[in-house]
Amino acid sequence: MAEAWIHEPRVTLLAVTQFTPPSHIEWETDTDNPAQQLIEFAGRLCYRSFHNPSGRANAEYIGHLLAQGHLSVIEHASASFLIEGISRSCSHEIVRHRHFSYSQVSQRFVNEAEARMVLPPALEGDPEAQAIAESVTRASKEAYARLVERLRARYAHVDDPSLRRKLARQAARSVLPNATETALVMTGNFRAWRHFVRMRASEHAEAEIRRVAIAVLKILQEQAPAVFGDFTIRRHDDGSEVAEPGYAYE
Ligand SMILES: Cc1cc2nc3c(=O)[nH]c(=O)nc-3n(C[C@H](O)[C@H](O)[C@H](O)COP(=O)(O)OP(=O)(O)OC[C@H]3O[C@@H](n4cnc5c(N)ncnc54)[C@H](O)[C@@H]3O)c2cc1C
Repeated sequence: MAEAWIHEPRVTLLAVTQFTPPSHIEWETDTDNPAQQLIEFAGRLCYRSFHNPSGRANAEYIGHLLAQGHLSVIEHASASFLIEGISRSCSHEIVRHRHFSYSQVSQRFVNEAEARMVLPPALEGDPEAQAIAESVTRASKEAYARLVERLRARYAHVDDPSLRRKLARQAARSVLPNATETALVMTGNFRAWRHFVRMRASEHAEAEIRRVAIAVLKILQEQAPAVFGDFTIRRHDDGSEVAEPGYAYE
């Protein structure tokens, strides 16, 4: 059967910061965006400037923080995403970013015999390259299934069936390719997301992780326009999307 390649990552927002204004502090802002309210509140606490002496609107206030590099203030707001349809090589690049929390599908527990594969973007529209890749993915999955069967027999003396499966799968997974699909939940604050997008939506990043970063950016630009609106998305020479921040600080 032909490989049912995955062509695009799926990025879904799971959670974003909510804000409960303290009833004992008198303060007004012009936004109803909870994440941006929290950032402004935290920033104003620094100088006890709740009376807004400069008359700045919320977006202007946050823009000023970003321009000055006063980025610890945007760390108070955070977002969680479900990221699906990415390869293990892409997830390996993602988890290098140390300021996030991750939960990822376990290859020790989950049966990968029918795992789907992610087509590297560079192989799009190249049937010959896809056929080469497919011959390897098919062979890998067959080897995986045979190894699981063999190892389960080897561990027949282990009473707990769940442990027996785990012992087999954790060894057999070593023959699965980098293209094997994975999924993860990724949570981080807005400063970490800005850094992630800066690094991974850049034209220098690998095409697959760039698609993830662009998808994240588009959602965050809707969720917190004052914090992510300075990034501009443009078409790269190869037709893919890349993004660059308007502010220099990270
Ligand atoms: C185009 C590109 C090519 C790459 N090529 C390679 C490669 O060939 N080999 C390879 O191994 N990796 C490679 N990487 C990964 C890269 O080296 C980083 O590991 C990854 O991008 C995570 O980013 P970060 O280092 O900025 O750290 P993050 O974990 O995202 O942290 C964000 C920031 O926090 C600060 N920080 C975090 N941890 C520390 C710390 N321990 N000490 C001091 N400051 C800290 C730094 O300012 C850092 O920039 C590549 C990345 C890109 C974008």
